[in-house]
Amino acid sequence: MEHVLQYIDDHADEFIARLQELCRQPSIAAQNVGMEETATMVAELLRRIGAEVRLVSTPGYPVVYAQIAGPPGGKTLGFYNHYDVQPPEPLELWKSDPFAAEIRDGHIYARGVADNKANLVSRICAVEAYQRVKGSLPVTVKFIAEGEEEIGSVNLKTFARQNAELIACDGLIWESGYKNHGGQPVSSLGLKGILYVELHAHGANSDAHSANAAVLPSAVWRLVWALNTLKGPDERVLIPGFYDNVRPATDAEVRLLEEMPLDEEAWKSSLGIDSFVLGLTGMPLKEKYLLQPTCNLCGFGAGYTGEGLKTVLPNTAMCKIDFRLVPDQDPFKILDGLRSHLDDQGFGDIEIKLVDADWAQRTDPGDPLVKAVVAAAKRVYAKPPVVVPTMAGSGPGYTLCGELGIPSAGAGTGYYDSKAHAPNENIRIADYIEGIKHIAVLLEEFARV
Ligand SMILES: [Zn+2]
Repeated sequence: MEHVLQYIDDHADEFIARLQELCRQPSIAAQNVGMEETATMVAELLRRIGAEVRLVSTPGYPVVYAQIAGPPGGKTLGFYNHYDVQPPEPLELWKSDPFAAEIRDGHIYARGVADNKANLVSRICAVEAYQRVKGSLPVTVKFIAEGEEEIGSVNLKTFARQNAELIACDGLIWESGYKNHGGQPVSSLGLKGILYVELHAHGANSDAHSANAAVLPSAVWRLVWALNTLKGPDERVLIPGFYDNVRPATDAEVRLLEEMPLDEEAWKSSLGIDSFVLGLTGMPLKEKYLLQPTCNLCGFGAGYTGEGLKTVLPNTAMCKIDFRLVPDQDPFKILDGLRSHLDDQGFGDIEIKLVDADWAQRTDPGDPLVKAVVAAAKRVYAKPPVVVPTMAGSGPGYTLCGELGIPSAGAGTGYYDSKAHAPNENIRIADYIEGIKHIAVLLEEFARV
């Protein structure tokens, strides 16, 4: 393995240039900028390392699928990535062009470098290094790179259902991973699910002079009253049955949480808050953050909110709500529960529009994939790795892994200040090179476990 690691050091400049080239190609899914070109470029990068590549078309942007066979009867390791990026705006806050991939002080700055191009290219480089030095791979590898992650992976579910055989593998490395403030690499084993809805309240058939508020129904108050029945100040969601299927944490998950470093003071001061909800701290804070579902108001719209005074009785009001779900909450049962709850509380007139729904996914910390990720990290990184049971956010984990029974774990080249989705997104070049080494060692460790 030492020779593989040496190869990576010897070819670092080339691997950095390869990443810069991909970052210089914009791929903004939301604006349909450069998508086909980027898919072609990723396919070419994979072909250059000897992969059998297919561009699988979808009603949106294509999925780049690639495979390199390992020993017959051996294991298969998958990599999930995305080649699309968030829009770079606001441009004036960038210190260099978001698509210049400029290097400053050991960092590469580019939109999409952390999320998710460096992870994608690091995996390609790792496979290349291993093959060049050892002649062949110890496991079969599969790459799945979609082009719609930043717009909700809209066609990934259909792709997964139609291509279960292409996806099939013994373990899948999720798109991302990062180093925390203490320099430890963090690998997470799952994602929360989501139920995203809009609630709409309607009053009279048009806005009215607010003098009529004495006698006309108010859509805004209807919505406020309805929302007030969803969650109390104790943070409990009041939809009957909401918590029924929440899977209790396993002992192994509790242990991971206990070992997970969390600098509460730094987190609070970075946000300018005095305390977390309910004054939570320690284990109850970690458990609520990662293992409990949420009911969050994302946005609220009604009436006049401009300068000065406008006395008006608005006839509509709407809000957007996301419920981050945990295993085994069924998003569609929660949706039904929300409807019945509103009906029972006298809000049958509040309309619900479904925007997004997906299950949570979590991998058993005892899975061989997790052991391999940890063992490889211990060989490459100076600091011991941290494994967390799940991310607090959502993603298509259930679509690609949960539904198909594939374990997954994160690994990646980002760090705590990578600024994904924000101006001056960046990675540290040293982390990128270490990330390549981590994946190269992982190939061997995964073959062994
Ligand atoms: Zn993203």
